[in-house]
Amino acid sequence: MDVTSISQAMQLHAQALKLGSQPHHHNYSKLFTFSALSPSGDLNYARLILNSLQTPNSYFWNTMVRAYSESSDPFESISLFIAMKLEQPSAIAPRPDKFTYPFVVKACSRLKDANLGKQVHCLICKVGFDSDRYICNSLIHMYMKFNDLGSARKVFDRMPDRDVVSWTSVIDGLVDNGRGIEAIKLFDEMIDSGIEPNDATIVSVLRACAETGALEVGRRAQRIVKEQELGLKSNVSTALIDMYSKCGCIDSARNVFNEVFDKDVCAWTAMIHGLASHGMSREALDSFAEMKNSGVMPDERTMTAVLTACRNAGWMTEAYHYFKDMKKKYGIKPNLQHHGCIVDLYARSGKLTEAEDFIRKMGVKADAVLWRTVIWACRIHGDTDRAERLIKDIDVDFTDPGSYVLLSNIYASAGKWHDKAMCRETMNRQGLVKAPGSSKIEIDGSVYEFTAGDSSHIEAHNIYEKLDEIYKKLTEEGYKPELSEVLLEVDDEEKAFQLLHHSEKLAISYGLIKTKPGSQLRIVKNLRSCEDCHSFMKLISRVYEREIIVRDRIRFHHFRDGICSCGDYW
Ligand code: ZN
Ligand code: ZN
Repeated sequence: MDVTSISQAMQLHAQALKLGSQPHHHNYSKLFTFSALSPSGDLNYARLILNSLQTPNSYFWNTMVRAYSESSDPFESISLFIAMKLEQPSAIAPRPDKFTYPFVVKACSRLKDANLGKQVHCLICKVGFDSDRYICNSLIHMYMKFNDLGSARKVFDRMPDRDVVSWTSVIDGLVDNGRGIEAIKLFDEMIDSGIEPNDATIVSVLRACAETGALEVGRRAQRIVKEQELGLKSNVSTALIDMYSKCGCIDSARNVFNEVFDKDVCAWTAMIHGLASHGMSREALDSFAEMKNSGVMPDERTMTAVLTACRNAGWMTEAYHYFKDMKKKYGIKPNLQHHGCIVDLYARSGKLTEAEDFIRKMGVKADAVLWRTVIWACRIHGDTDRAERLIKDIDVDFTDPGSYVLLSNIYASAGKWHDKAMCRETMNRQGLVKAPGSSKIEIDGSVYEFTAGDSSHIEAHNIYEKLDEIYKKLTEEGYKPELSEVLLEVDDEEKAFQLLHHSEKLAISYGLIKTKPGSQLRIVKNLRSCEDCHSFMKLISRVYEREIIVRDRIRFHHFRDGICSCGDYW
């Protein structure tokens, strides 16, 4: 007889006791398993059964350790494990075996106790289970949870027998840590070693492709999905839509989207977000309307996508309309990101007082990012006084490098070189370092990354030579470096030199060397594109007759025939 509810389980137990049957393993195993592991079970009851048995075997102990490791009180799992260790050799508790450790490790990771986790790992090595696949997989998972990629990698590298779970955990961890290029390399190794990927692997590698702009690898992953008949599961199709749109192929994203039979909120959101970031704001809002018509309710992330569409088009009225609807119609409380879209719209259009008022009245504590949006706009609109006042007045931690760089830029634009120097000095004293600009370009399925002034590439010499040639050609066509973008006290020649070596220009130069005339070039940049690089790309697209797609931190720019899809608004 199957046990399906806890009351039924208790009845069976009571009957057994009434009939005088001795508490024995066989009678209790079903009852116990149900109480311990079923979502409608009862952990305390399971423990009672365990305690009532005279010599419970390792199945009972391990099941109990497992149940606790997944419960709201994972520490009980550790106590039980310690009891198993200590009761040796009195034979009341069995010795922990290879089925015990994965759950003890799981308990450590759920307790977020890295020290305990390391101790358990030592113990595992001591008792000789350190090459057991399941135990290793749980260790990898635990170290990933602790953000200790190094230790996870060590466990993985020493494993004699890895399965798809081991590979996927490490690939996923690399993606989480922004190391997409390595994740893709590992994925290739996995395929070469004959391991077939599953859904989770595909989702991880698609995330890596989205991050790095590795379109070819993404396409290959889609072929694997088709070949292995993994089916378009919701998480896979959403990852595909996201990958295609982040790699600049909004049409392919739409094709995948159209093939999804049962579109859930994640698929819709990925599509709307893709359209929004490509500057197709009208289509994004149309999709949103279609989604609601089909009976799918938006969530927080959908609304971020909708407001992003309005922001990228500079549509204040529409944005405000959706913003108000959020709470009233869908019961979604606006978060910082939603507020950020409205602030951004005010700030860009120069309504700095409105932006400031909006932040002060929004009822959610603003963070440095939100205030920086306003301060950044102060720089664009030349309102240095407001910027200085805000930085002094507002109760936000501006000790991140981004804020200092911004402040020092504001001083530089206003010609306040002394203040700027002081600001830089504070930054240096506090050891704050600005994230360097970097650009990635995929060529023949491999991703190459460049930082500004980078000379580490094996073909650096050719890249710089090509760049000189491009510079000459563009100058003939009227290109003038946007010297005001360089906020250093250096002469114009040095400013032009620095601009020319921005990371996306190195990437485009390499792209022009390595690809056939007429083929499309795609670049992923980690920061916002500067004015100079933007006009540089526009000219290249015309002079070299190339379609160039640049994804910067904010949005996509499709350059063609000397024009950009953003209409120079970004
Ligand atoms: Zn630039
Ligand atoms: Zn643009």
